[in-house]
This record gives sequence, structure tokens and C-alpha cells, in this order.
Amino acid sequence: MKHFDCDVLVVGGGGAALRAAIAAKELDPECKVYVVTKGKLGTTGTTANSCSDRMAFHATLPHTEPGGEDAWKYHADDIYRIGGRVSDYDLAVILAKKSREAFEYLDELGVPFVKKDGKAHQFVTDGSKYARACYTGPKTAIHIEEALVRRTRELGINIIENSMIVRLQVEDGQITGAFGVNEDEEMMFFNTPAVVLGTGGGGEVFSQHVYPPGASGDGYALALNAGASLVNMEFIQIGIASVKTKLNCSGSFMRAVPRFINEDGEEFLARYFPEGTSLEYVYNIVFEKGASWPVSCEHPSSQIDIAVFKETMKGKRVYLDFSENPRGFSFDMLKPENRDKYASEINQPVSDEQRNSSPLARLGEINPDSIQWLKDNGIDLDKGEMIEIAASGQHFQGGVKIRDKGDTEIAGLFAAGECAGGQHGANRPGGNALLDCQVFGKIAGEAAVHHARSMKAEGWPAKPKPFGDLRQECIGEDKDIDSDKPLISAAELKREIQNIIGRYVSIVRTREGLAKAWERLGQLGKCHVDRAGMNIIEYYESLNLLPVAKAIVKACMQRPESRGPHLFFESEEALRPVGGNPDYEKYFVIRCRDGEFTVETQTPVRPREDGR
Ligand SMILES: Cc1cc2nc3c(=O)[nH]c(=O)nc-3n(C[C@H](O)[C@H](O)[C@H](O)COP(=O)(O)OP(=O)(O)OC[C@H]3O[C@@H](n4cnc5c(N)ncnc54)[C@H](O)[C@@H]3O)c2cc1C
Repeated sequence: MKHFDCDVLVVGGGGAALRAAIAAKELDPECKVYVVTKGKLGTTGTTANSCSDRMAFHATLPHTEPGGEDAWKYHADDIYRIGGRVSDYDLAVILAKKSREAFEYLDELGVPFVKKDGKAHQFVTDGSKYARACYTGPKTAIHIEEALVRRTRELGINIIENSMIVRLQVEDGQITGAFGVNEDEEMMFFNTPAVVLGTGGGGEVFSQHVYPPGASGDGYALALNAGASLVNMEFIQIGIASVKTKLNCSGSFMRAVPRFINEDGEEFLARYFPEGTSLEYVYNIVFEKGASWPVSCEHPSSQIDIAVFKETMKGKRVYLDFSENPRGFSFDMLKPENRDKYASEINQPVSDEQRNSSPLARLGEINPDSIQWLKDNGIDLDKGEMIEIAASGQHFQGGVKIRDKGDTEIAGLFAAGECAGGQHGANRPGGNALLDCQVFGKIAGEAAVHHARSMKAEGWPAKPKPFGDLRQECIGEDKDIDSDKPLISAAELKREIQNIIGRYVSIVRTREGLAKAWERLGQLGKCHVDRAGMNIIEYYESLNLLPVAKAIVKACMQRPESRGPHLFFESEEALRPVGGNPDYEKYFVIRCRDGEFTVETQTPVRPREDGR
């Protein structure tokens, strides 16, 4: 057993965790800050790995539209209002007000933001009213990660790689330590009064997702186990993505208006619209889907996600075909405003005739790089190959319930970034996740230092527990191994959870489906999980998926209405989900006590009368 004495333990090596560790060390250079991360620093998690057309980092800067001293208000309002009024408005205000400082810090660290006349160039993202998305290109997140890794190393922060925190130790409602294990199966104990979780989302609960490996929602499981609560777990961004490459099929992929076909070669979209809907309407909706990638019940393009999901639910594989036009399509069917939008994106102009000839010609006109990118990644559209697609998880809006210091219900436990919840509602306007990591990462890191100082003033360090007790905690030696519990391998457990969530908790959610999911997850919880040769870290990840999946299903079951990406249907046969209900402008707080999940309904922090 390795033993470490820390002041602040930061769990994770992504954008939120590293910003927290840096903030802690910059605030107090004497502070013993440890970062524990799975894999090598700078290589794991979404920040270090995700890419898209143009990744956005939202910031309200002095030159950001519409300008004026109160520009932050529009930003906060977008987060809260587009979020469906189920998040804490005061946290949205913090995000908006601190966005300039967060941007400037990254800029100083050398993140190569695109600038015009010395000012960050900004564009409009899904769900926002004004252009406030700063970017470096497709790799904005990776550039942020690289800059933070450089600064972490410069500050000499202690880094423990290839290791996973598997349990938090809480005594009398206060963090007193954390247990970890490394890939060589050595156990570790961190004697610490403060822990910051920066563990990212839990995309691996889905059978289809665009997360990198290891996104098992460990922070949610750690927090539940420690007695903290989760919020807004039903709100997860889900959208159409390539099965083979995990590329989100948004933006130009939709604006090229491809054919949506199933494995039988049938163009199926029109079947999922009310009888009599014109093809012209359907194709305009496909075009408009380019600006609303994750499913959101508030947007008519959600019908496309529903169609794709229902087709896959029938066991059919589904593809985007760019080789020929959809049935009856001609470019002039697009509404004038959609054609104008298309024109504004032209990159390599072609003739009117060519533009009208195929989706591939249009994709080549507005986004030729995407064709090359796909070719490099094994899909050659020029040769008529198609993109197999599926509804895929991308971002958890909810998470460990935090307040304004990134603090949780457990003293000394903080959370930031995608593993935290309460700052985002049902929909998350694009660009605010990367921002969130920086703003609440810094806040949580600094708050953890203050907490550690006050604990030391009260006589910390606490006496560590004897090692004998720790072994049991850390490695989870199972006394029940000889019992007559049903046996399941960790790999099977993971597969089962992914199938359940992918089937019943994706685009189409129904009362019956959620009840089935809950029952099946309950049965899995009664099994003895055999590691069966699995690597120790993947084994713990698989175990964590169960409480994460249960928290999601429990949250979904509380919301018999539709809001954002939570589409609730009366039955699987229904064409459209039920509508939103103003009575549900509240959030559900999930806790787990002795294995039992409980729910408390709470009213979010609302805007004050004066809007501040
Ligand atoms: C394809 C894609 C495109 C996106 N585009 C955008 C965009 O344009 N704009 C935007 O704002 N957001 C975007 N997002 C979302 C955004 O990238 C993420 O929300 C954000 O990067 C998450 O950062 P994080 O620090 O919270 O977590 P991560 O970057 O995922 O880091 C989590 C870290 O914790 C470690 N970890 C986890 N559990 C443990 C444990 N138990 N012990 C030790 N270490 C652990 C992991 O190894 C990892 O290092 C996108 C996401 C995807 C997938």
C-alpha cells in the first residue's frame, strides 16, 4: 500500500481537473497538490481527445455582441433559458461573468485562438443568441489540454499517472481520504482533507457514444458512494454520429441534404413524419438539423433523431448516403433563408447544375475537408461508401450537485467540469462545457485550498486508518464470492448496461421502457461480478457504470414530460414525444444510501427580479 499526504487531491487529468490543480498551486505554492489520472497525463478524457468541425469555447469579451456592461446577462440567460429553466441561474451568472477571465488565462498560456485585428474571432453556436464562441479550429479542446498540461508541469504539481481513484473516505460528513489503484494493481491511500473531482462524463453507459475510452462516470459513482448527490442526470446530449469514426454528423453533413437509408436501401425519413408531410418540408428540416446537432424536443429536427433511432430499434442499420439526391430533391426546394445560409458557407464553389446533382457535390462545395477527413478515417464518399450512423451520447449536462464554490454536500468534496451538475439545464448551448471546466475548475481548486487550510487550523492531518481496513476498501475484496449470487463477468456487465441504456434511455424514453431498464439494472446489482481477467482499471470502470446507469434511469423516471434531450413518449409507437410541462421546471436530486436510490425534488435557484 502506497501512502500519500496531500492538502488537495485532484481526480482526473482533463480540462476541469488540471485547471483546479493549477489554481490550487497558484493560490498557494506550498500546497501539496496531487493529480491522479487514468492513463498518461494529457492523453485521457474528452478534453484531450475530442474534435469536431470547429470546437467552441464560449466567452463574453469586451467586443462580444451585443456589447455593453450587461453583455454577460445575455450569456447567462442563454445558459439558463435554453437550458429549460432547470439549472441554477446563479451558477450560469458565474459562468458568464468569469468567462472573460477564463479566456484570457488560456490565451496567456498560449492557446492559439483565432483572432481578427487582435481580437478573438467569435461565431454563433447551437442554442445561443449572439456570437461568443472562440475557437482554434477542430482541436480547440486539445489545444486547451496541451496548454494546461504545460502549466501543470511548470508548477511542479505531483502527478500520479495510470491510476484510478476508486473510493472516497468520508468521516462525519467530511472527506478524510481517497483510495486508489494503479495499473500494476498497487493500492494507494491519499490522506487528504480536500478532493476535487474532474472526472468528466459517463458516455460509456451508452452502447453508442462519441467519448474516448474510460468515460465511465467515475465521479458520479464516487460522489454517490460518499453520500453526495447528483442532479439533472436525465439530461444527456445525444445526436447522430458515425458509428465507425465517432464523428458527429452535424453542420455541413446535414446541410448537404444526404439520403437517410436503412440496410434495405429504403429512404425512411418521410415515414416518421405525419401523413401528408411534403418532402420539401422534410428536406428543409434535414438542412436545419445542421444547426441543432444534439436532439432537443424543442426543435422540429428532433424528428430526424427519432426516425434514425426508431429504425435502429427495429434492428436495421442506418446510413447517410451522399452518392445521390434524396427522392424528389432539388436544391431550390430549400427555403430562401436556408439557401442563403448555404451560400454563406460555400468554400469551393461549383456550378448550379453540380450543386443540384448530389449531396457529395454539395458537401464538397461547403466542407471539402470533411470528405478528406472521412477518407483518412476509412470512409471514402468519393467511392460511394456510406456513413453508418446511430444516436450517440456526447455530453452529460447534469452531475455531482455543486454550489457556487464547486462545493458539494460533503465537506471537502468539490467537483468541476462535466462531472459537476446544476450549472447547466436540459440543453447546453454549444461552447459552454469547455468554459465550465475552466471557470468551475479554478473556483473549485481555490475553494479546496481554503478548505484544506481551515482543516489544518483545526488539527489536520487526521490519523490515517490502519492499513488492514484499507485493503478491503480499496481492492473491493468480495466476501460473498462463495455465495449463491448469480455470476456475471465484468465485460458482460458493461455490455448489458450499455444495451439497456442504449435501448430504453436514448432518444425514445417511455414509462414501460424505463421500468424495464430499472428492473434489469436492479437484477444486475444482485450479481457477483467476476473480474475474469479484466485489467483492474477497466474492472472498476465497469462496476461504476451500474450506479451511473441507475442514477440516469431514476432521474428519467421522475420526468413524464419532454425537455431538451429528454424525449418522453406515451408509447414506443407514438410519432412525437409528449410536450413540456411548466410544472416540471424543477430538478431531481438523486442520492444513494445503503444501495437504495432516493429522489428529492428541488426548485432551482431562479433569476432575481433585477436579473442578477
Ligand atoms: C466530440 C465532442 C465534441 C465536443 N465539442 C465541444 C465544443 O465544441 N465545445 C464545448 O464546450 N464542449 C464540447 N464538448 C464537451 C467537452 O469537450 C467536455 O465536456 C469537456 O472536455 C469535459 O472536460 P472534463 O475536464 O470535465 O473531463 P475530461 O476531459 O473527460 O477529463 C476527465 C479526466 O478524468 C480522468 N478520470 C476519470 N475518472 C477517474 C478516476 N476515477 N481516477 C482518476 N482519473 C479519472 C480521465 O482519465 C480524464 O483524464 C465536446 C465533446 C465531444 C465528445
